[in-house]
Amino acid sequence: MNYDAIIIGGGAAGLFCAITAGKRGKKVLVIEHNQEVGRKIIISGGGRCNFTNLNVTAENFISQNPHFCKSALAGFTPQDFIELVRRYKIAYYEKTLGQLFCRESSRQIVDMLLTECSKAKVQIMTGCSVTGVSCNGDYQVETNQGTFSAAKLIVACGGLSFPKIGATGFGYDIARQFGLKIVETRPSLVALVMEGKAYTPLAGVTMEVIASSGEQSFRENIVFTHRGMSGPAVLQISNYWRAGDPVSFHLTPETDVVKHLTANRASRKNLNNVLAEIMPQRFAAAFAEREFDNKPLYQMNDREFDQLIEKLNGWQVKFSTTEGYDRAEVTLGGVSTNELSSKTMESKKVAGLFFVGEVVDVTGWLGGYNFQWAWASGFAAGNAI
Ligand SMILES: Cc1cc2nc3c(=O)[nH]c(=O)nc-3n(C[C@H](O)[C@H](O)[C@H](O)COP(=O)(O)OP(=O)(O)OC[C@H]3O[C@@H](n4cnc5c(N)ncnc54)[C@H](O)[C@@H]3O)c2cc1C
Repeated sequence: MNYDAIIIGGGAAGLFCAITAGKRGKKVLVIEHNQEVGRKIIISGGGRCNFTNLNVTAENFISQNPHFCKSALAGFTPQDFIELVRRYKIAYYEKTLGQLFCRESSRQIVDMLLTECSKAKVQIMTGCSVTGVSCNGDYQVETNQGTFSAAKLIVACGGLSFPKIGATGFGYDIARQFGLKIVETRPSLVALVMEGKAYTPLAGVTMEVIASSGEQSFRENIVFTHRGMSGPAVLQISNYWRAGDPVSFHLTPETDVVKHLTANRASRKNLNNVLAEIMPQRFAAAFAEREFDNKPLYQMNDREFDQLIEKLNGWQVKFSTTEGYDRAEVTLGGVSTNELSSKTMESKKVAGLFFVGEVVDVTGWLGGYNFQWAWASGFAAGNAI
């Protein structure tokens, strides 16, 4: 069968691209190997899909070319997606920092996209595995349900994170097959594994910090895990962290540490008790014991006192690795933006071949940015095919 466009991958970017092209009268086929589309949307945001962010700028994205995402993000804004959500009367709320979540269920977003697909006469094949792609003028897509052809091929296969719900490296394989460069991929928005086991008994402890790696800082919560740390501050930092880099944590962003410790300078209380007044008790105990033998402040000399202040303002932690693609929300890297038009997402070398969404080397912060990139890049390609 012949289509104007075949889209491989029925996730956020693929569906949005299909809707956009279908509304323009294009005959579009979406091929999804899972039994249902949008599985990542369904599990996202703890089942409530953080579908966009009110404060989207290019600074919220990581890419070898930080300017690449600007055109698509300007062409389809968070407000545009919010209008669609409102039209479908999906209740939503701002959780924090501009992050918009469904009040009820992320399924509402998938249902909305499916209704839009049906209005735009998009054909969707689920449980359909692509076995090969070739091009002889038109694109031939071989699947377990037959061969389909189209003038345009849109690769919307996503990244490598969460393979248990269908993620594959197929999009990168197609890019390589057609000679496009891939920026090295790595798991991101992911928990980090600490070197050593000193803090593992703290699993479950949460505290607000400012986490920094290089130039980037995030003031959010961390959560200790059995192997290291997670929580929004660590997930955000994981976008910037490279193996070997230390991460620095300002442990008491709410408190003037110098004032608090100076007021307790002559105190006979053990350090853990002084610290427990400004941070979670369990963390205070482990930190005081591990880093300062839990010495009372009055026994510390000036050098030790200064070191304590320095550590509270910038505790350096070494992480050995990440929890990997099985637990990562996104994949950093991907199809090089040098290969693509930022206006249309079409390959500069191979006419009619497009890449949208997470498969491209554009990765957002935690907080709805990755879906906004999926909608926006899908929209850009959908208008160009
Ligand atoms: C647990 C979790 C929670 C998340 N929460 C949020 C959130 O709240 N907000 C946010 O902005 N981002 C969130 N993300 C990230 C977000 O889900 C992704 O960035 C986004 O889904 C990317 O969209 P995409 O369409 O490019 O890829 P995907 O949504 O991954 O879609 C790709 C599709 O292609 C299909 N596919 C893959 N290979 C093949 C193949 N060979 N043949 C056919 N089909 C194939 C896959 O099955 C999948 O359906 C979360 C991610 C995870 C894992």
